[in-house]
Amino acid sequence: MKFIIFLMFFLLSVRVKNSVHCIVTPELEPVQLLDFTSNDNKTVTLNKASVENLFLNPLVSDRDVVVVSIAGALRKGKSFLLNYMLRYMYANYKTVSAPNRTINELTARNWIGDSDEPLKGFSWKSSTKRETVGIMFWSDVFLYDSPNGDKIAIFLMDTQGLFDHSSSPTDNIRIFSLSSLISSVQIINIYSMIEESHLEYLQFATEIARFTAVESESNSKPFQKLMFIIRDWISPEEYDYGYEGGNNFIKMYLRIKDFHTSELKTVREYLKRTFESITCFLMPYPGKSVARNSSYDGRWSDIDEEFVDVMTELFPILLAPSNLTVKTVNGVPIKAYELLIFIRQYVDMFKSENLPEAKSIFESTLDNQFQILTSKSVEVYLESISTYQDHISNFDEIGKLHEISKAIAMKFFNEEKKFGSNEDGEVYKMQLDNKLEKAFAEWKPITVDFLNKIEEEQSKAREQKKLA
Ligand code: GDP
Ligand code: MG
Repeated sequence: MKFIIFLMFFLLSVRVKNSVHCIVTPELEPVQLLDFTSNDNKTVTLNKASVENLFLNPLVSDRDVVVVSIAGALRKGKSFLLNYMLRYMYANYKTVSAPNRTINELTARNWIGDSDEPLKGFSWKSSTKRETVGIMFWSDVFLYDSPNGDKIAIFLMDTQGLFDHSSSPTDNIRIFSLSSLISSVQIINIYSMIEESHLEYLQFATEIARFTAVESESNSKPFQKLMFIIRDWISPEEYDYGYEGGNNFIKMYLRIKDFHTSELKTVREYLKRTFESITCFLMPYPGKSVARNSSYDGRWSDIDEEFVDVMTELFPILLAPSNLTVKTVNGVPIKAYELLIFIRQYVDMFKSENLPEAKSIFESTLDNQFQILTSKSVEVYLESISTYQDHISNFDEIGKLHEISKAIAMKFFNEEKKFGSNEDGEVYKMQLDNKLEKAFAEWKPITVDFLNKIEEEQSKAREQKKLA
């Protein structure tokens, strides 16, 4: 009898477990949709077979689509978060792999699975090796049939690092542009604080995407939801963790202020014009095991409680049935098979010969950025010269002041945040060097004259003293 009760209890618990928990089985995996090859800037390859499997599957092809993408620098926990998102999705939706599964009513936390279950899904880890290459989709598609008859397919997408200095800037820009074109929700994953360079980067990546996008005949904005997720948020006392704090923060950050330069104003206006909604979500530090332990397997028992709580707040905001954002083009919802047609078209456009405007925008933005940085660095040099010039008392010190001021200006140039590769930077550094040498050639003779005059006066004074 005891055995039968035990067996019933066991079978019941297995059923409940399977119906609620993430079922990331070995045959489910991330599939690469687009491959970007840095060696040849012209290559964006569409993985035809996997794309067709995903979008033309009979369970999917005729459904409206929701595509949630996450982008941002390497090793900032994107894939880790996405894998918890997968658990939330499996707990809430049927999938192509299990279309007849029963979905139980969820209580607040039971989407998350067992506390000691290792985290699976998109490859994630603390190593320095790049884990996500190009644009990856989860191979399972989530299905939602709304009570009013809408049929929706939900895709999750992981991308290679944006704002990431370890790969070619052209690749990064193309990855972000393409993922913005394909997705209906674009998450920008940022560590600790938004910086102006992030906004500028977004501006020119979306500008490139806009060139590629199908010509708009409606008044709709080209892109839909943009959400900044800030990890390891540093000022919870000012703006609290979660959605409300995040939105108050982003409103403040994007508000145009009197002291803003025209560039800061333009980038803010641009983003507001381009995305239908811009929101933000602030996340706490997840704890030492997640952030520091290289053998950590992702189990949630080792994550700080507060982090798990904010994940539980975050996922429904993006992915609950009532909050799904269906992908539109020119304001019109598109079906999965139509999205595939657009993706093919975008990829063709992105073979860079077809995208001269985009290339030139990229190059001219890069050029503008470095020109501004170079003139600021020259100013830093001249400031140092003017501060110490009056204290020069002999000819040796002229050269020394030049060398020291040059080092200060170069340090400023190197440390200022910028995008573009190191090679791009080297070209402009040489230009800066030339400008500083030119500036030296201008002030040196004046100072030499000045010292000569002082010396002349001093020797005159000595002569007079002697005569006296
Ligand atoms: P990705 O390259 O952005 O996809 O980063 P991964 O998801 O592969 O994670 C990189 C490392 O960051 C892993 O060791 C994670 O355990 C860790 N990590 C995940 N989330 C966070 C977070 O919110 N803060 C910190 N500091 N580390 C995190
Ligand atoms: Mg990753």
